[in-house]
Amino acid sequence: MTAQPRVLILALDGATFDLIGPWVDAGRLPNLGRLIREGVHGRLRSTTPPITPCAWTSFSTAQNPGRHGIYDFQQFVPGSYELAPTNGAQRRARTLWEYLNQRGLTVGLFNLPWMYPPPPLDGYCVCGFDAPDINPRAVHPPELSRELHAAVPGLSLAAEFLRKREGAYDPEVLRRQVQVNVQAALFLLRERPVDVCLLTSMLLDQVAHFFYYADPAARGCGPIEDMLLAAHEWVDEGLGEILSLVPPECLVLGVSDHGVAPTTVHVNIARALADAGLLVYRDHQPRGQTTELATTRVPSSGPTSRLKRALAAILPSSVWLWLRRARHARRSRERYAAVDWSQTRAFSWGNFAQVRLNLAGREPHGIVRADERGAVVEQVKRALLELRDPATGEALFAAALTPEELYSGPHTEGAADVLGIPTHSGVDASLHLPTPEAPLIVTRDAALMASPEMAEKVAGHDPEGVFIARGGPFRCGAEVTGAGIGEVLPTLLHALGLALPQGLDGRPIFEPSFLSEHPVQKGDASLSPPEASGPQADDDEDRRAVEDRLRDLGYL
Ligand SMILES: [Zn+2]
Repeated sequence: MTAQPRVLILALDGATFDLIGPWVDAGRLPNLGRLIREGVHGRLRSTTPPITPCAWTSFSTAQNPGRHGIYDFQQFVPGSYELAPTNGAQRRARTLWEYLNQRGLTVGLFNLPWMYPPPPLDGYCVCGFDAPDINPRAVHPPELSRELHAAVPGLSLAAEFLRKREGAYDPEVLRRQVQVNVQAALFLLRERPVDVCLLTSMLLDQVAHFFYYADPAARGCGPIEDMLLAAHEWVDEGLGEILSLVPPECLVLGVSDHGVAPTTVHVNIARALADAGLLVYRDHQPRGQTTELATTRVPSSGPTSRLKRALAAILPSSVWLWLRRARHARRSRERYAAVDWSQTRAFSWGNFAQVRLNLAGREPHGIVRADERGAVVEQVKRALLELRDPATGEALFAAALTPEELYSGPHTEGAADVLGIPTHSGVDASLHLPTPEAPLIVTRDAALMASPEMAEKVAGHDPEGVFIARGGPFRCGAEVTGAGIGEVLPTLLHALGLALPQGLDGRPIFEPSFLSEHPVQKGDASLSPPEASGPQADDDEDRRAVEDRLRDLGYL
């Protein structure tokens, strides 16, 4: 038997060279530093938008979003103004994990986002972010769930480090969370050997969202910077343990789905659309509703979470379920409660500057006819492109694009009708406040009032992630430029000497001289697309669990 794994993929959600680079140079991250020195590395272009579900799905499928159909954490439920979480069930392209199985290689995936429900891989799949939790339904084979929990007490998908103690974040909680994840990884490496092993950490992303401050003074003042650096150091320490278990000839890849960058300006796209006359509010908006909406929301995740847990423990589960459903229904209705659909032509949603037209025949109260669509799209584009940052006078958006301009493929129903591309990664357009009083530029204090969970985030996503590869054909110390996330697995297949299936968007990213000596083999098989289901309107407990996690992390 050959030593296993042959390939180790470290999926480091949100890792960025902006942070890793200086800390590697300063000797703070010795294991990542060694991988970089001994292999190739470079910035990795994410998808547009650079959002976790979209980007990791392009990674797994080597397809652009137009072919895989996943764009954001949420998607509109057909025929409604309601958003529901997406998961792997809506993916419209086959993954290369299944293809690796077909080629005789066993595959193990730990925590990789947007794989739920788990495919029956030859190997294992422990689902991540889009799964309700690590339970037998989110793990293939199901018995591995029990084994993992028995071997690694405390294993969970929850972002435990966000549970404050006495109003403050506790680094020890974060440290324990890193260690639990590393223990699970070591358990899988020892007990479930596979040819291709992928281990995911969400922590660099999650910690950066809450601790990567734009203001260097805030970053340099002790506990805040400590959390960001400490998270990196603890993950690096874990990497050291993991790498010590793999054979020296193992190919090691380090990949992130996007980078992170501190937010410098929160822009409320709903206001921009209202100012342009594209979004209209109801005349009889009762005064004070906005205030009430802001103040009745939960103040912070810490004490509330404790209360939630305490309530969950004492209430009969049927009552608890009803309470959660009622809260969700209120939030869903609240989102667009002030909007007059009979006069609104466009509205905003999602974790990026995403605009949806109120299309007749698609939206329940749609008014934009098919023959008006082009004109409304142009108006939306103009509204976005004219926006200026009042502090600097600079344009907030460099481009505003339609799915036809961004993607190729038939599955654009979940995409924005117009997507604003920010001029820089400090522009945050995830705070949608469709109420007449909400301003265009939202200050941090106002954001905190309107959406505490979201406003505690201080950093957003950047379109450049990381790519690191060591071993096999990857030349020591070389820098890779221009690679995209959909090209990582085709590169891996080529490095393993495997033919590529037909019809992939991603190409191997080797230098032309290497490719002329080692031409890419085209397989005859093209991957048939899976049956996919749309997001479901009916409530269920799984969906609540995912939504609660997304909300804790400021994605809703
Ligand atoms: Zn991510």
